Amino acid sequence: MVPHEDPVAADDLPPLESVRARIARTARIAGRKPAAIELIAISKTQPAEAIAPLIEAGHRSFGENRVQEAQAKWPALKAATPGLRLHHVGQLQSNKAEDAVRLFDVIHGVDRPSLVTALATAMDRTGHRPDCFIQVNIGEEAQKGGCAIGDLPTLLDTARAAGLPVIGLMAVPPADTEAAPYFALLAKLARDHGLAGLSMGMSGDFETAVMLGATHVRVGTALFGARAG
Ligand SMILES: *Cc1c(COP(=O)(O)O)cnc(C)c1O
Repeated sequence: MVPHEDPVAADDLPPLESVRARIARTARIAGRKPAAIELIAISKTQPAEAIAPLIEAGHRSFGENRVQEAQAKWPALKAATPGLRLHHVGQLQSNKAEDAVRLFDVIHGVDRPSLVTALATAMDRTGHRPDCFIQVNIGEEAQKGGCAIGDLPTLLDTARAAGLPVIGLMAVPPADTEAAPYFALLAKLARDHGLAGLSMGMSGDFETAVMLGATHVRVGTALFGARAG
């Protein structure tokens, strides 16, 4: 028996192994290599003690949504852990751009020209050039981060012209609705613009996202349990 091939056994595994097994199983069904999907453990609000067991289990990819919180938690962990990759997900204020490019290896929330300018300046000043995803407001929701679908071509041109290493598109589909059509639309937009990276899928829908081509899934509660507050 190979436990990772067995859907029932996967659910009895510790969370990290279970999520990895579910990604691997879905990738195989979709005819994809499991290694083509990066599992980002979203550790926002989680203390270092909750993160340590994942690092000990060999996990190296983590995500945070607040620069200040990440600055308090990660420099020590990064120094002690070779190969660690830190992702910034969600809204990024332009005045945090320089702190962000110093600490993070990947930035997923590039969604407006002013942030492109701030990141380009910060990259030139620091010499750190994290990979970037353009975030798209894929459900055209008011209040939601991400550029409008119609603004994507121009924002992408702006980001490329400014020298940002843009590797893909990122989105958070509308809550409480079937995510698959939004993932499919994001995948089409990425294809249309020659981008290989697709940052999509969270705890409730990462298997759907993998089925539809996600290269990066951002998983918090399925790994750490519910966040306080
Ligand atoms: C918090 C967060 C996640 C993780 O969400 P879970 O539902 O806990 O898996 C993913 N992406 C972004 C942008 C987030 O802010």
